[in-house]
Amino acid sequence: MLYKAFQDKQISLLGMGNMRLPTKEVDGANVIDWEKGKEIIDYAYKNGINYFDTAFRYHGGESELFIGDALSRYPRDTWYLASKFPGHMMKYEDHKLGFKGYLSNFHCDAPSDIFGEQLEKCKVDHFDFYLLHNVCESSFDFYTNEELGVVEYFKQMKAEGKITHLGFSSHGRAETIDAFLTKYKGVFEFVQIQLNYLDAKLQDAMNKYKVIYEKHGIPVIVMEPVRGGRLINLPEASEKKLKAAAPEATTASWAFRYFQNLPGVMVVLSGMTAMEQIVENVELFSKEQPLSAAELALLDEIVDDMLKLVPCTGCRYCTEECPMGLDIPKLIALYNEEKNEGSMLAFNMDTGKEAEDPSRCVGCGACSGICPQNIDVPSIMQEFASILESKKK
Ligand code: SF4
Ligand code: SF4
Repeated sequence: MLYKAFQDKQISLLGMGNMRLPTKEVDGANVIDWEKGKEIIDYAYKNGINYFDTAFRYHGGESELFIGDALSRYPRDTWYLASKFPGHMMKYEDHKLGFKGYLSNFHCDAPSDIFGEQLEKCKVDHFDFYLLHNVCESSFDFYTNEELGVVEYFKQMKAEGKITHLGFSSHGRAETIDAFLTKYKGVFEFVQIQLNYLDAKLQDAMNKYKVIYEKHGIPVIVMEPVRGGRLINLPEASEKKLKAAAPEATTASWAFRYFQNLPGVMVVLSGMTAMEQIVENVELFSKEQPLSAAELALLDEIVDDMLKLVPCTGCRYCTEECPMGLDIPKLIALYNEEKNEGSMLAFNMDTGKEAEDPSRCVGCGACSGICPQNIDVPSIMQEFASILESKKK
């Protein structure tokens, strides 16, 4: 197993995600198959994986119970456990804390209610790594609300030794991550983002990586390294190209080796559902094998094949011309993502902002007139507006 140094620790580069554990049906409900799940955890542990990631909401709350129990069979100082505070699903109104359309019958008065329960469920007296779950455009105000004091509370938990390392995960934009890290300089020690060779471009994940690691000097934990299987089951033409370059290599090996070229990546989390996956992944992470320049160029080509992107370069010439003040490049980036890979719009759109409402486009064409890429912006705004409208229904 390859390891990365993090402060006084050596962390396995392959981490075990606990969001997609094997499941079975019991009384009509889909629950974790503890027996199969434990076989996977045992294999992970015995083959050098020492980083295990869960969250309050994974598997409807059962993931924390499962992983806490599975790991409790091994000495506490031989594994690291990470969990997350579900602030992205919470609201704080009229001095009351509650959930946004999820667990509506769950009541709590303060972050301490949830955190205390998590420690208990996981059978630990401290979390080695603890994250604010998904700091993004729609959760930023919640996490920074001073009256509620989420960050202050978790700083206190760290001071008391109940958290060893504090970080956050994010599906937000690079600017949002930057703003949060800048506001809380020195507080967060790692950031977890969705990164893989496709999202590096599609979700602007390479810029997020650069903000976190190069600008703020903080290591990155990767989630969705194969984009929920998308990079395993590639389009036929893309797969053929990879096979031609390396007949023996699997599509997974291309996706995972990519991270060996990124020095800021501390852990690559993989949610391994079956034994075959973990066996292959452990093997892939057992030796140094970064991609060559030619192999990276081939992945770039594959990405371009896969994406039918509107070729906006983000130059922003158009935004100066738009009488409605629309943030055209931002809207095109979201449109690209929506069209190509399904939606992260719920996380990434600030629907309250007039600049991010494509239905405000009046079709004047001033943008297209100046666009060096000759993009038909009004048509895109119109189509994007109808996509959003249909999602509301
Ligand atoms: S066509 Fe729409 S997006 Fe383009 S400048 Fe006019 S109002 Fe703005
Ligand atoms: S002018 Fe064209 S390329 Fe530049 S940001 Fe606007 S749409 Fe994108």
